[in-house]
Amino acid sequence: MTIWFATGNEHKRRELAAILAGHSVKIPSDAGVAVDPDESGDAFLENAFIKARALFELTCEPVVADDSGLCVDALGGRPGVHSARYGGGVNGKLASSERNALLLKEISGASSIAGRRTARFVCAMALVLSKDRFFAVQETLEGEIIGEERGTGGFGYDPIFFLPERGLTVAELSEREKNRISHRAKAARAIGKMLEII
Ligand code: IMP
Repeated sequence: MTIWFATGNEHKRRELAAILAGHSVKIPSDAGVAVDPDESGDAFLENAFIKARALFELTCEPVVADDSGLCVDALGGRPGVHSARYGGGVNGKLASSERNALLLKEISGASSIAGRRTARFVCAMALVLSKDRFFAVQETLEGEIIGEERGTGGFGYDPIFFLPERGLTVAELSEREKNRISHRAKAARAIGKMLEII
């Protein structure tokens, strides 16, 4: 089956294609189009559906879209859906290291549970099959925010996101290991199961 994935990110396409083996995963740039709707939702799933429906209007074929971010308990769930633009900056975006420094500064003044800064990466994924037929999933990767960046792998908040049971930050995992346990991989595997039953 051809599955359209609402992303401009080639890396994300490869990740999804590996999980949805047996399907052909295409992205808007394959058809020479760009889909960039206003992600105005207050919830990850709302934004995933905004992106999925915008692409479905163009393709009229099955579409997957995701929305993800970091939710920190001590910050009441922030940055949440605003993770990509947390802190603003040039063009509304800070460099990852600046964003991480800002988050560490903000969290240092916040209360914690027994000194632990619990947090989770969240990924919502929507599979839209027609205007009125769709599936949705939201998955997490649980961890804690540590006091300084560690590791060089991954992207975004990975260097400050610590996995206590592993004793490593996500940026210290191999790409393979991250792709096995991540919020996005878990959500994508669930979408794969849904594709098996449609
Ligand atoms: P998007 O869903 O690709 O727009 O991602 C939103 C933002 O959440 C990213 O720009 C990152 O800041 C953050 N984020 C989402 N997933 C991850 C991850 O696996 N590691 C680190 N940061 C992430």
